[in-house]
Amino acid sequence: MSQTLLEVGAIVKSAREVWDGPGYIVLQDDVIEDIGRGEYPGSRAGMTVVKRPHRVAIPGLVNTHGHAAMTLLRGAGDDLPLMTWLTERVFPMEAKLTEDAIYWGTLLACWEMIRSGTTCFTDMYMSMHKAAAAVEESGMRAVLSWGMVGLDETSARSGIRNSESFVGAWHRQAGGRITVTLGPHAPYTCPPDYLQQVAELAGRLAVPIQIHLSETRTEVDDCLRLYNRTPIAHAASCGLFEHPVLAAHCVHVTDEDIEIMRANDVHVAHNPQSNLKLASGIAPVPSMTQAGLIVGLGTDGAASNNNLDMFEELRLAATLHKAVAFDASILPAAQAFQMATEDGAKAVFLPAGSGTLEKGAAADVTLLDLRSPHLIPTHSLLSNVVYAAGADDVTDVFVAGRALLSNREPQTIDTERVEYEARRIAQALSQ
Ligand SMILES: [Zn+2]
Repeated sequence: MSQTLLEVGAIVKSAREVWDGPGYIVLQDDVIEDIGRGEYPGSRAGMTVVKRPHRVAIPGLVNTHGHAAMTLLRGAGDDLPLMTWLTERVFPMEAKLTEDAIYWGTLLACWEMIRSGTTCFTDMYMSMHKAAAAVEESGMRAVLSWGMVGLDETSARSGIRNSESFVGAWHRQAGGRITVTLGPHAPYTCPPDYLQQVAELAGRLAVPIQIHLSETRTEVDDCLRLYNRTPIAHAASCGLFEHPVLAAHCVHVTDEDIEIMRANDVHVAHNPQSNLKLASGIAPVPSMTQAGLIVGLGTDGAASNNNLDMFEELRLAATLHKAVAFDASILPAAQAFQMATEDGAKAVFLPAGSGTLEKGAAADVTLLDLRSPHLIPTHSLLSNVVYAAGADDVTDVFVAGRALLSNREPQTIDTERVEYEARRIAQALSQ
């Protein structure tokens, strides 16, 4: 048994409960064993004591959508619409990605996410056993899927085979930090019979599904033309929603789509920055949350963002929808914070309590420097975290009770080596 006592200057337990004064958190193995205000009243014997009197503890941020090793494609194709970007820039470079590249690209993503306060992320990509190895090594929590594309018989079959073996090898592994889901890419890359096969496989393996849905207007128009249904209605008709589903984007959804998602408890990953950069549009998040949908925040891959900084998504989510609705109260700071933490954790199927600092929750904690000039003074701690804090304020990160970042120093990643390998691989990709 290992016990860490965190002594901090303030605690945001959840979007509902903020303690603006000293407090403590006891991390025992991988859960929060105790949390309280003021001094820890018990014995410190046998505990690792971490004193951070000028830091605020928040639940670790949850990135609900991304493609980790796309860090290697960062900046390789900007200012293009989704389909041109995919076919002319992304797919040709991805064809050159080796297993080695996936491993180093994922580690680079883990380094970047740990540095910016993210404790759990979602990934849909290729050679995923290498991505899982990087996750295991980094100490992060992750929800991983092997991207499935069914445009031809060979790729369709290998998608099923790879996913099946990936579930067998990595689901609930790395001390329970890794969850495996199925990852059918999208309705425009997975024909209906393939989506049906994926749905059956999800049932047989008892794992959730993550998929891109209704990302662009073109996708919706094509789906209506081909199947006479919206992508959401189409996914439902293929049986996907009979299983737990995390749908990324949902930018172009109708009221009927939202009702289908509500009736089937479909979770949503909102990726405001990626949707803006690819000119896809703005998801009707207030309508979705008002309908009762679970909506988390995500960065998407670093090729369409171009970083994995969840603080940017948090602030963007909290500001963007106000301007769309001409209503400053439509998505308040507390709700945005909940999307980045507790609702994000629910969206990616983590156990109840995850994404909060409640007793019994997973010991995933991020500390921010309260003495950063832009966090002074403190009229509202939550407001400062949502509207003023940034990745550079992150000083310490714990996942499952283990320190992955300590006083801004990564503890699990050889950052010099990762930098060297990422630059080497990127050079080969661009040749
Ligand atoms: Zn994506």
